[in-house]
Amino acid sequence: MVNVGILGATGMVGQRFIQLLDKHPDFEITALAASSRSAGKTYEDATTWYLDESMPESVKDIVVSETTPEAMSNDVEILFSSLPTDFAAKVEPQFAQDYIVASNASAMRMVPDVPLVIPEVNPEALDLIEVQQKNRGWNGFIVTNPNCSTIALTLTLKPIYDAYKINKVYVSTMQAISGAGYNGVPSMAIVDNVIPYIGNEEEKMETETLKLLGNFDGKEIKDADFSLSASCHRVGVVDGHTEAVFVELDKEEPIDEIKQTMSNFKGLPQELGLYSAPKNPVIVKEESDRPQPRLDRGADNGMAVTVGRVRKDNAMDNSFKYVLVGHNTIRGAAGASVLNAELINEKFL
Ligand code: NAP
Repeated sequence: MVNVGILGATGMVGQRFIQLLDKHPDFEITALAASSRSAGKTYEDATTWYLDESMPESVKDIVVSETTPEAMSNDVEILFSSLPTDFAAKVEPQFAQDYIVASNASAMRMVPDVPLVIPEVNPEALDLIEVQQKNRGWNGFIVTNPNCSTIALTLTLKPIYDAYKINKVYVSTMQAISGAGYNGVPSMAIVDNVIPYIGNEEEKMETETLKLLGNFDGKEIKDADFSLSASCHRVGVVDGHTEAVFVELDKEEPIDEIKQTMSNFKGLPQELGLYSAPKNPVIVKEESDRPQPRLDRGADNGMAVTVGRVRKDNAMDNSFKYVLVGHNTIRGAAGASVLNAELINEKFL
């Protein structure tokens, strides 16, 4: 067993980490850290638990520590981070001197020597770890997973990108409230409403997707060469991001073939049989009223992205459009880091 800790353990994503790591065959939670508001309390006392499944007994009595390397127990090998971005920027590099940090925060994602990884999409980016350790003299390292909306989008674009030539992608999101964290959006702002702005979200989707689909030459990553425009919106859904996606190819391709390409897609996690890997990362539905967040966010334990309404787009040449739903705190956050850690465990530990 590999001992693991969670930074930001009391938050929305932190709780998902606990749920996904409880009874994990390879990882055992031995340390939990959060802010000074929580440090010194038991996890049960420090946390406003929001998941449907009850808090696992195994974590209730763990005393939450301060988020500093000095307060971290030495027996931990992997730290899962779900810290706020500003704080992550400061402490993740400190932890990486001695620990493996699998981070959800955006702070380090676009740093050139930091792997931004979706195991089905660009597992080769883990080879950047060697470059990072050499550049920085760290014993540990930082690996990041993308933003929640980017993960779902990129999983569906990867098979398309490999099979055809993409010219342009437009995406319009309808994002769940849990994506903003426990105290993120006041109920008075979101009930009976749509908020047409999520800070930095569009920039993250537009840059991270191109890094993920980019070309890694063993030293650096060159961005994928198509343009992407995102418009991001918050809607009154608890969990599960919905996205309307419009793709322009360089030539017309049959819609049935595009659907097959997406549903046949598998990657390294499926080949290796990693514990959290979904059987099919992309599930294509034929019903005209799917996907829907309430019905589809839980697909394959929240680790698969569901696509529907794949159809021709008549406004642009050689184009098609579809709708997707992905679970933002599972496949889009904690589950993504756990899958990254399973791949790291397989390759490096
Ligand atoms: P959250 O519910 O607000 O939780 C934040 C966590 O960080 C809590 O455990 C909190 O501890 C801790 N924290 C806050 N300030 C701290 C400080 N100064 N020092 C140490 N710990 C501190 O937020 P979240 O939704 O879980 O998001 C966490 C991170 O994941 C963010 O970077 C977010 O952008 C990223 N992310 C979130 C999602 C999502 O769908 N929610 C998806 C992808 C990525 P206390 O309880 O003690 O305050």
